[in-house]
Amino acid sequence: MNTQEKKKLAGMPKVELHLHLEGTLEPEMLLNLAENNSVSLPYRNVDAIRAAYRFADLQSFLNLYYLATQCLRKEQDFYSLTLAYLRHCRDENIAYTEMFFDPQTHLEHGVPLTVVMAGISAAQKEAEREWGVLSGLILCFERDRPAEGTIALLEEAERIGGIIGVGLDSAERDHPPGKFQETFAVARALGLHRVAHAGEEGPPEYITDALDTLFVERIDHGVRAIESPELLRRLREEQIPLTVCPFSNVSLGGFGSLQQHNVGRLLDAGLKVTINSDDPAYFGGYLTENIIATWEALGLSFEQAVQVQVNAIEGSFAEEQKKRDMLQNLMSYLDQH
Ligand SMILES: [Zn+2]
Repeated sequence: MNTQEKKKLAGMPKVELHLHLEGTLEPEMLLNLAENNSVSLPYRNVDAIRAAYRFADLQSFLNLYYLATQCLRKEQDFYSLTLAYLRHCRDENIAYTEMFFDPQTHLEHGVPLTVVMAGISAAQKEAEREWGVLSGLILCFERDRPAEGTIALLEEAERIGGIIGVGLDSAERDHPPGKFQETFAVARALGLHRVAHAGEEGPPEYITDALDTLFVERIDHGVRAIESPELLRRLREEQIPLTVCPFSNVSLGGFGSLQQHNVGRLLDAGLKVTINSDDPAYFGGYLTENIIATWEALGLSFEQAVQVQVNAIEGSFAEEQKKRDMLQNLMSYLDQH
């Protein structure tokens, strides 16, 4: 991608579909929250935290991630966290984003769901009003916890209102999606959208399992689909969107470097690939940086970057009219630049 194209990409209206709000907690905010909420962290300053952001694998990242979430206590904390990410969206021209949150972690820390959701919702409204940044919220269940209690949690979230769907995240290895079949069936009956992390560290079978038992509409990550020609064919034929997160995959050791990432091969195979930042505070960059660095490492074209944005619009859970508007905005931006 040349300098001109990079500029064009930066200004282009974009969509993000795989983003954990807790993963946007930057070291500076983490230190402030720890102090305000009297939580003691094993890090004295921002440099010490950044040094801790060198992970061996998904589990080592999750250990730090869950430690940091202990500093999120009050409605104001969730509001500030969400608003800071949505301000990033404004600055990067991300017009629409679908954000994950992990309520079970916060409940374990004694923070009620109403507090978490009130803070997030206030920030969503403010970002829409002030900057025109639109967002949806997806409640994630942590797959390494028991499925018991997740239906009650889902029903409580529905009573509060404000979620557009459910997801499945956290440590994938040895935690196949099927365990949450019943919970996802309830979500489906409630008219909620469904996604799941699968094929990140887990085998391709987990992707198939998520499609067949949880009836997910998108696969988060899904990069290990490449190991199964049969699954690749299915993903292509059914045009199941994959929310690929290159910086995250490299940070957690899924690929040795961006040059070794398989996103170019997935695109060549005709899959509906999207690019996302996952946990940008931890993995070295937000959406635009993910796209530019990956495209440079793999020598992908500007047209492929546009294709990925079209995929993200089509693969989003925005209403049909909103999708048409977003496609229209993208095309008129490209015409004008
Ligand atoms: Zn994720």
